[in-house]
Amino acid sequence: MSKEYTADLVVIGSGGAGLTGTLVAAEGGARVIVLEKTGLVGGTTAISGGGIWIPCNPLMAGVGVEDSREEALEYMRACAGDHGDDDHIVALADEGKAMIAYLIAWAGIEFQAFPAIGGMIDYRAWLPGAKHGGRALEPMGFSLSRLGDWAQRLRTDPRLKSANNLRAYYTERKHLLPMSAMKVPPADDTDIYWRGTALVGWLLEACLARNVEVLMEAEASEIIKHGESIAGVRARQGDQEVTIHAPNLLMGTGGYGHNEELKRLWLNRPLHFTCENEANVGDGHLMGMAAGAQLAGLGDAWWLPHIPLGMDNGVANLAGTREDRILPHTMMVNPSGKRFMNEATNYYDCGEAFGTKSGAEPRNFPAWFIFDQQGVERYMLLAFKIPPGEKPDWLHKGATLEELAKSIEVDPQTLKTTVERFNRFAVSGVDEDFHRGENPWDTNWGDPDNKPNPCLGTIAKAPFYALPVYPGANSTRGGLRIDAKGRVLSARTGEPIPGFYASGNCSNGAVAGAYTGPGATLGPAMTFSYLAGLDVCGRLG
Ligand SMILES: Cc1cc2nc3c(=O)[nH]c(=O)nc-3n(C[C@H](O)[C@H](O)[C@H](O)COP(=O)(O)OP(=O)(O)OC[C@H]3O[C@@H](n4cnc5c(N)ncnc54)[C@H](O)[C@@H]3O)c2cc1C
Repeated sequence: MSKEYTADLVVIGSGGAGLTGTLVAAEGGARVIVLEKTGLVGGTTAISGGGIWIPCNPLMAGVGVEDSREEALEYMRACAGDHGDDDHIVALADEGKAMIAYLIAWAGIEFQAFPAIGGMIDYRAWLPGAKHGGRALEPMGFSLSRLGDWAQRLRTDPRLKSANNLRAYYTERKHLLPMSAMKVPPADDTDIYWRGTALVGWLLEACLARNVEVLMEAEASEIIKHGESIAGVRARQGDQEVTIHAPNLLMGTGGYGHNEELKRLWLNRPLHFTCENEANVGDGHLMGMAAGAQLAGLGDAWWLPHIPLGMDNGVANLAGTREDRILPHTMMVNPSGKRFMNEATNYYDCGEAFGTKSGAEPRNFPAWFIFDQQGVERYMLLAFKIPPGEKPDWLHKGATLEELAKSIEVDPQTLKTTVERFNRFAVSGVDEDFHRGENPWDTNWGDPDNKPNPCLGTIAKAPFYALPVYPGANSTRGGLRIDAKGRVLSARTGEPIPGFYASGNCSNGAVAGAYTGPGATLGPAMTFSYLAGLDVCGRLG
């Protein structure tokens, strides 16, 4: 059986990248069809934090942060060094704010900005042009009932459901609370979701209102070209062959984190864990290559080192790899029992510190996250890591440091020397080796009540604990090379392939070599999709 459709634009993937371009093109009068491989709309975006990093955005002033084009360019260029395409940086500085203004004005999407309290600041806050707060936005809560029948087709994360504004987690620094402050939340019969689920909810509602057709369980498999130009897409929906005839195509298929072969071949270090959408296996990368696209930015991922806490793959574990590494009474060592980084740093740079492949193994893998009883008593994020009942395999415990070292097969004398040196730093407040707690990122997330350094506390009180830390990521990044309008460039000519657009994690459309701030994946994904949508509108006959 086969079915044929005709559209002005066919969009592959219903995450933040796919739906933003869909909305803009549909608002501009294009007939748009979205193909979604799974039975749920939203991809990784729907289970994400929903943070959107946009310099000079229209909500910054409201939280008291000033920004300028010059500072935005300076910061992004300082982050990227000589990596990537500079015209992407210019487009993000100039057009990101326009994208947000557009979504507010034309789609009625509501956002809030993160103020300069807590940790929602630029991730390399020590670089010139960095801002503390303001650049990160998130959508306001979204009531699922607004979607009618579509509500059941939206990918949701139950942890994002709340009648209360989830921004408070950051602004009230809840990661610093002890276990005793933990309250069992009242039964929540709300249908309001926040963060990534809300973002997709808002976008989907706006798309449906513009008569966008979304084909579910429709797996795109091949791009159809007429000469050099896009002519459509072939897909399979159940047992049906589907052909969409369309002169424009937006690829929004996300990364390839669930494709073991591509990970092995393309990434510059192992990726043991990803919380990416399960259907993200690089379909868009491969379809684009077959259609003559250039690739750029491969090898990299949105690194997010991972501590196994007995969760299934596909379940996010942000607490395991961000806030807890910053807390006093914690440190990380490599297999030699030595520290190798400022543990408090942002999760992308932490992932980078594992080292690239050298010989058969990367240099600092697996790392060990070590903490003591003082940390457990002070911070619920550490107490959570010790589940009641029988000790799980992944948790190591020792009455002495030597016992712990033996359990994790690290030389006991080396670990003891490392801890003694670390403890001297904790007392003096100065990390002479890695300068933990000395930059604004560290101090924003650290514990202000911990003196003299908000991120350093001794590891001195038994029992001692260790957890393995593996290379992980939000998603892979890099793929189809796009220009500053989201147009895919031809491998043969270097020019845009007429009608072919891409955005998000199947493309190289972001600041290369860095995670600029909270929302640094969705901000660019949505900006280049917005630009692609506008360009499609300009091509309508
Ligand atoms: C827990 C967590 C928190 C995060 N927090 C943030 C944050 O706050 N801010 C931020 O910027 N980033 C965050 N990220 C990362 C962010 O979610 C992703 O980078 C982003 O969602 C990628 O968007 P995308 O549209 O490119 O891909 P996705 O959202 O993954 O969408 C891709 C879609 O394409 C579909 N698809 C794939 N192949 C095909 C095919 N052949 N045919 C049809 N459809 C196909 C998939 O099923 C999927 O629905 C977070 C990620 C996680 C997991």
